[in-house]
Amino acid sequence: MNTQEYIDLGDEYFISTYNRHKIVLDKGEGVYLYDHSGKKYLDFASGIGVFALGYGNQEYNDALKAQIDNLIHASNYYYTVPAVTAAQKLCKAAEMKRVFFTNSGAEAVEGAIKLARKYAFNKDGIADHEIIAMKHAFHGRTLGALSVTGTPKYQTPFNPMPGGVCFAEYNNLDSVKELVNDKTCAIILECVQGEGGIHLADRDFMEGIKKICMEKDILLICDEIQCGMGRTGKMFAYMHYDLKPDIVTVAKALGCGVPVGAFLAGEKTQDSMKAGDHGSTYGGNPLVTAAVSKVFDLFESYDILNNVNVVGGYLAEKLDETAVKYGSILERRGIGMMQGLEFDRPVDKLVSMALKEGLIIISAGPNTVRFLPPLIITNEDVDSMIFILEKCIESCMV
Ligand SMILES: *Cc1c(COP(=O)(O)O)cnc(C)c1O
Repeated sequence: MNTQEYIDLGDEYFISTYNRHKIVLDKGEGVYLYDHSGKKYLDFASGIGVFALGYGNQEYNDALKAQIDNLIHASNYYYTVPAVTAAQKLCKAAEMKRVFFTNSGAEAVEGAIKLARKYAFNKDGIADHEIIAMKHAFHGRTLGALSVTGTPKYQTPFNPMPGGVCFAEYNNLDSVKELVNDKTCAIILECVQGEGGIHLADRDFMEGIKKICMEKDILLICDEIQCGMGRTGKMFAYMHYDLKPDIVTVAKALGCGVPVGAFLAGEKTQDSMKAGDHGSTYGGNPLVTAAVSKVFDLFESYDILNNVNVVGGYLAEKLDETAVKYGSILERRGIGMMQGLEFDRPVDKLVSMALKEGLIIISAGPNTVRFLPPLIITNEDVDSMIFILEKCIESCMV
């Protein structure tokens, strides 16, 4: 079958929840993807921030292949070596106490919400606790995760949402304070909002949040699903601030391609859940946790954080130069290898044109293009990206 025939077949059989680009991806190698017709793409999206190590990493692939031959699944009624090993590595890297492995980001958020409510329930025995979330945040599409994702277009057709959630303005401490009451059990936020358009939490805002949480015994949940795992130049984005979250959610780059997420508990919350409080058939199975374990090893042996800081700095510098050149660019925002360019108009044309020119980028909100490259990119990859990007801007954004 040719490309068009596969696309037609997909359109016939998939539930139409995505406006997919009309290419069929076949193969990945390093920072490049290849489609069914053999065309090559420079990938500055890495499957929405997932493939941090790039495609086809031999050591990673070998670890997965070996695990396939050993044991793929066991259920959580038993211990497995990969799950135990991955749990220890993840907790150490995040400076947290305990972890529950999930199959996706949304499920990690679900678990985080349950853990926060259980902590509060253990304190007062009343099941009426509230969570403060941020406007323009993104926490996932399942009902619990959607209940803290304050985008009306995502929520409305699927109402009623699970209750007990209210929304504050990001980076506006007063708007958070107004919502705090005796029922508040947690504040959930991304230290760098991803889908919302690459917005960083101000230092003062985070300092204020920390104070509120300490004074009122409110839990801080940091959603690190996109900004975690080294993307901002530290292992987790909250490490840029002087604070420790009580609950952390991770996914995307955690397994670098296999479906795995996690929620982590800190000092306060580590013993809040008891046997029977939560579960998952697949969660943290040997195959995905073997991947997680290898990811942590490779992050260390490749000194990924250093590469993010050095090449991420170069990426920001180059994007700043581009922003100065074109009047349609309002702002460059971001940190490390999580960068965005906000334009004065929608960017869907730019994204499509870049794809035609062999560059994969994605949007974050209507007017912002987002750059989430594999964390192994070099300065030369940045130069290649900028060359195509500027060519596309010149032909459709001026
Ligand atoms: C992608 C994302 C999620 C949802 O993860 P899924 O694996 O798609 O369920 C949640 N929070 C943030 C910050 C994300 O970027």
